[in-house]
Amino acid sequence: SAMRKTEVKRTKTVCTYCGVGCSFEMWTRERELIKVQPKPEAPANQISTCIKGKFGWGHINSEHRLTKPLIRENGAFREAEWDEAYALIAKRFTEIRDQHGPDALAYIASSKCTNEEGYLMQKFARGVMGTNNIDNCSRYCQAPATQGLWRTVGYGADTGSIADLEAAELLLIVGANTAESHPVIATRFKRAAKLHGQKHIVADLRKNELAQRADLHLKPEPATDMIWMNAISKYVIDNGYHAEEYIREHVDHFEDFKASLEDFTFDFAIERCGLTREELQKTADMIVEADTICGVWAMGVTQHSMGSDTATALCNLLLVTGNMGRFGSGGYPMRGHNNVQGASDFGNMPDRFPGYEFVSDDEVRQRYEKAWGVELSKNKGLNNHQMVHNIHDGDLKSLYVVGEDMSIVDSDALNVQGAFEKLEFFVVQDMFFSRTCEFADVVLPASPSVEKEGTFTNTERRIQRLYQVFPPLGDSKPDWLILTELAKHLGHDWGYTHPSEIMHEAAGLAPMFAGVHYDLLTDFNSLQWPVAADGTDAPDLYPELKFHFDNGHAKFHPVSWTEPTDQLDDEYDLHLNNGRLLEHFHEGNMTDETGGIVYKIPHGFVEVSPELAEERGLKSGAVVRLKSRRGAIKVAVEVTDRVQGRQLYMPMHGKKNIEAINVLTSFEADKDTDTPAYKELAVNMQVLEDH
Ligand code: SF4
Repeated sequence: SAMRKTEVKRTKTVCTYCGVGCSFEMWTRERELIKVQPKPEAPANQISTCIKGKFGWGHINSEHRLTKPLIRENGAFREAEWDEAYALIAKRFTEIRDQHGPDALAYIASSKCTNEEGYLMQKFARGVMGTNNIDNCSRYCQAPATQGLWRTVGYGADTGSIADLEAAELLLIVGANTAESHPVIATRFKRAAKLHGQKHIVADLRKNELAQRADLHLKPEPATDMIWMNAISKYVIDNGYHAEEYIREHVDHFEDFKASLEDFTFDFAIERCGLTREELQKTADMIVEADTICGVWAMGVTQHSMGSDTATALCNLLLVTGNMGRFGSGGYPMRGHNNVQGASDFGNMPDRFPGYEFVSDDEVRQRYEKAWGVELSKNKGLNNHQMVHNIHDGDLKSLYVVGEDMSIVDSDALNVQGAFEKLEFFVVQDMFFSRTCEFADVVLPASPSVEKEGTFTNTERRIQRLYQVFPPLGDSKPDWLILTELAKHLGHDWGYTHPSEIMHEAAGLAPMFAGVHYDLLTDFNSLQWPVAADGTDAPDLYPELKFHFDNGHAKFHPVSWTEPTDQLDDEYDLHLNNGRLLEHFHEGNMTDETGGIVYKIPHGFVEVSPELAEERGLKSGAVVRLKSRRGAIKVAVEVTDRVQGRQLYMPMHGKKNIEAINVLTSFEADKDTDTPAYKELAVNMQVLEDH
């Protein structure tokens, strides 16, 4: 044949979607992806992947990719060369800083970018612009989980590994839809149930896939998980089932904790959570009987006005039963984005440097000042939520957002969009012209993970390397290169030529990563932080029950319950929950580019219980208007017994503004972390079209 034979190239990479961190080889010919080939040596997934990792790569060669910088001129965008875009950004950032001070500018890093890019983003904000106004999207998901773990065991991360989850006798899965959100980990759960009789308790409003298979499915009333968890802790202590010796030797503040549980009786849990005494007793029995328990949780715990305290209650329950720091036990917040763990680990937080050291700590700050040759601010910066506030107040003038479609994924989206309209200068860096780009002054075209080198950190703190599969499309560039070049336009010549140089700089500065080196991360090799200088890593965060506090003891942290925000009333009489679908990822900007996925799930929908459908005379396919105290959307109905009573559920992947859940969600937030209370949402429902 006349066809030119080009060689098939195999390149190891890491999935760009969720925090499980599946790795595999990509087989490619020029810009064509032939197949995704998982390998037994892949540490998180071996030979498994889900539909997104296997097929969700339509974004790479999509005609919708941004391939040129865009500059807004007279109300419309025009294409520009990089140098012109950099020069404009450098000029406007400098003007705004000179006029209003460095804290008039703020930065949002991407949890889809690499660790190296995360490190550079905070170096840019702090070292080039002089502000700690930097955050990442974990503010919108697992920041409360981090808080719960910091308070009780010391590090804000999964306490063990996926191997612990598989080995546990009992999994307590709270507010997590693991089968759809972390599919490959859910496969391991199912295997453990089959192979060694692992038991599952799933607490979720909705009968999700794991709930259907669970030994016990609890359906507590929305925002009441803390109550039943505290009630179980109280039952355990009152009946002398607590891990007495473990607590005596390894956990502080037991008496305070015990006293704090006084009101959390089974009667209170029955009354407020709507659970039966039998369900509570069975939960308690299963917890008492199991020798090893892992607590697994996600947004159903964290996205509440008491998200941090609820995560803390779960950690307390694990401690009181002796289930932190032993193999097969521990606390596991399931990380959402591929690199949401890494984004925080590498300092994209308003008060922490890489490795979670405080910006207010003089010794730490001086270490960075010396290395970077700059003077740094010791003032805590603004978090994502506060940034939106401060734009409305007029104090924050400029924002630089990497890879976040904030105008649609942040809660109370109309309020966020209103803030963006007030910005003096707005830079958005993305692969696609997202809805946030519509508000920008400059849009920079970034490259997807397969067009760059670097590392991601998965939910079990595992740092894994990705190799470049394709060259960047058009004029798009990897984020690390964009930041390096932009810094140079602002007079800071960092001189990086490869991401390995960035990682090695970070490892030299942050003790948590002391031994991280690209030589130890070749191919499928990986490291779980903290990594000691000699390269020893940590599958278990607390070996020999040494917790991450000065005295080595874990700490009970008493919490109390308050009523949730955005309560139901006569006008807003339904509770609306939201979450992921297996096939799609978040707002859909990437998964919408894969034809097969869009064909399977063409539009958004709202799940309505059979009881409610009957009451309202609704059938699947009817179109309804959902209205909250903030806004209203139109969406098609799906009648299903996955939801019950007056509870509705909607996937978060609204394709268009009319289906976007966050038009409805509120600006209320967790009192400890400012994570929005996405799951506290009252709406009403009006039928627009019958089916
Ligand atoms: Fe990717 Fe997560 Fe699916 Fe693995 S489970 S293939 S990391 S989306």
